[in-house]
Amino acid sequence: MKYVSTRGTAPALDFEGVTLAGLASDGGLYVPETWPQFSHDEISAMAGLPYAGLAQRIMQPFVGDCLTPERLGVLTAKAYGKFSHAAVTPLRQLDERHTLLELFHGPTLAFKDVALQLLGLLFEEFLARRHDHLTIVGATSGDTGSAAIDAVAGSAKVDIFMLHPHGRVSDVQRRQMTSVLAPNVYNIAIDGSFDDAQATVKRMFNDAAVTGRFGIAAVNSINWARLMAQVVYYFAAALQLGAPARKVAFAVPTGNFGDVFAGYVAAQMGLPIERLIVATNINDILHRALSSGDYSAATVTPTAAPSMDIQVSSNFERLLFDAAGGDGAQITQQMAEFDATRVLRLTNTQREAMATLFTSVRAEPADMIAAQRWAYEACGEVIDPHTAIGLHAARVTAGLAPDVPVVTLATAHPAKFGDAVEYAIGVRPALPARIADLIEREERYDRLAGTYEAVRDYVTARATPRHQIA
Ligand SMILES: *Cc1c(COP(=O)(O)O)cnc(C)c1O
Repeated sequence: MKYVSTRGTAPALDFEGVTLAGLASDGGLYVPETWPQFSHDEISAMAGLPYAGLAQRIMQPFVGDCLTPERLGVLTAKAYGKFSHAAVTPLRQLDERHTLLELFHGPTLAFKDVALQLLGLLFEEFLARRHDHLTIVGATSGDTGSAAIDAVAGSAKVDIFMLHPHGRVSDVQRRQMTSVLAPNVYNIAIDGSFDDAQATVKRMFNDAAVTGRFGIAAVNSINWARLMAQVVYYFAAALQLGAPARKVAFAVPTGNFGDVFAGYVAAQMGLPIERLIVATNINDILHRALSSGDYSAATVTPTAAPSMDIQVSSNFERLLFDAAGGDGAQITQQMAEFDATRVLRLTNTQREAMATLFTSVRAEPADMIAAQRWAYEACGEVIDPHTAIGLHAARVTAGLAPDVPVVTLATAHPAKFGDAVEYAIGVRPALPARIADLIEREERYDRLAGTYEAVRDYVTARATPRHQIA
């Protein structure tokens, strides 16, 4: 399997190359040259496979010759063995029509574990072959930081430097990062906002004096391997609900468009998906893009669902590319215009292609709270604010065939957002037993001024230089 850039000019890479690369050198994102296909019979034959086995079957065509089926199976068994539920991503039925897909049984209680636990193992595998070393530098406003740290803690081949805005992440989120005391983990609280932290990271990726000495890598969802791992749970859920004989719809709480793009990939591979419902909060750039063709950035308004407080959704470029028939020159031009004006108009071809599978819903704060109350009062389920936005969208979407089950992706454990949950339903969810002692654990982090130089000097004094240029 070869991967090409959405901007059409960066060199094609294999799976190992894109896993270690992050962004393509022309500024684009890597996508598979073609979508692997599974027939109706091949999908039927997947029913009943354990999750790790299903993951191996779905991912093998993307991995190609970079890992044997046996080796990939070893890695998926190891990654998903760390989840606290035997089904890894269990379904929970709410009523005749609606079901939750619980994606939060990994070590850090959000769906990002499903991809990052595997990505950590893929890094180890490929770096060992190359006798190379990676330095991960990231900025987090919450869930990505803890999931990435857990995935690579203790690795001899990876150092991780995770920046968070001092005083601006929740107590649980901070402690999930800072209580990891492995020597390759560096938590940095910077004075400033998440945007300041993000700008510092971007500058470091473009600083040749740093990238020349260290193999600097990204772990956000521009990394193809993350999206690939997320395709699996769409198959797992649909198979349990009667696919491929029966179609299923999914409602996805969306921020950077990674999770729902994985659903799009599942559909391209042959999974019969009736509809993908993109759920946004009041930061609704994706709802505007899908409903009226207007992808224009506005100011971010903080909400109770912070992982969806995004106004530029990096992975949307992958859909724009596919919906433009893979025309990299057109995407280069559209993205240049967006960078200059913060406005991008979808072409009619793009809009029509998207409308065949996607719909979107924007949830107001009151809708989110009402969905949390309905889940609790009518179904006895305590759900987090992000999941609630997905469930609201699932419940208001009209026009689906009456017998189609609607699956809402439950992206975080409610205890991760205890204050917001208590505010909505009057009940405070308890932390699961395996992290119940989080509040007593020792924390370690360094606080730095929010300047580029301070962070650069900190990283370059501690990171391990790469052994070999890949
Ligand atoms: C990251 C995240 C999202 C958004 O997912 P994207 O792939 O960025 O669209 C939604 N909910 C939670 C809890 C998250 O952590």
